[in-house]
Amino acid sequence: MPAMRESMSVDRRGLMLVLSSPSGAGKTTLSRALLADTDNMKMSVSATTRPMRPGETDGEDYFFVEPVDFNLMINRDELLEHAKVFGNYYGTPRAAVEDALSSGNDVLFDIDWQGTQQLAQKMRDDLVSIFILPPSTAALEKRLKSRAQDSDEVVAQRMSKASEEISHWREYDYVVVNDDVDECLSEVRAILKAERVRCSRRTGLIDFVSGLREGY
Ligand code: 5GP
Repeated sequence: MPAMRESMSVDRRGLMLVLSSPSGAGKTTLSRALLADTDNMKMSVSATTRPMRPGETDGEDYFFVEPVDFNLMINRDELLEHAKVFGNYYGTPRAAVEDALSSGNDVLFDIDWQGTQQLAQKMRDDLVSIFILPPSTAALEKRLKSRAQDSDEVVAQRMSKASEEISHWREYDYVVVNDDVDECLSEVRAILKAERVRCSRRTGLIDFVSGLREGY
């Protein structure tokens, strides 16, 4: 009979964990905290045509590309999804995600509702989507202003876009309110923990289960 650990090397295909929210709902803090203490999880690094902000690193926060190169990526079918957000283009490079999933690693995505819809159409079985809600409009505005990375004009634009983004919350598998970041994080971790043991993902257990049954 196979021991459980022996059949666990690639116990399952990875899953795609999407976190979406309006800007300023705390998604970046959540993603970083989750990545820091979760095994077998990688962040999907998107390509974007938006200018780099102070403190950002090319290849870590985003792949910063020219519009012409972004179009090439689309034409070569190198993006799993792509969308225009706040006047710039954003997209998920396909190869890194497919490699991670097939080697049993989960992939974390910080993408908007348009990208999530596209992933749901293409890769529903791999997708777990969570919408992060801010606790109030006032809290959202405060967080956006305190970031001070964007101009007043961009902050105002992002506030007006927030309500549009929030209107898509019901399209997600889960919704979490980010009132207290630790509580929010523990809810996201609980979702991940449960989704990792979903029967449909655990193809690596087939031999183990056959062995168990033969033992009787
Ligand atoms: P920011 O410019 O503030 O980093 O991101 C703006 C918005 O673009 C965020 O809502 C973020 O979730 C979204 N976004 C970032 N990368 C992608 C991507 O690859 N695809 C899509 N559809 N949205 C993205």
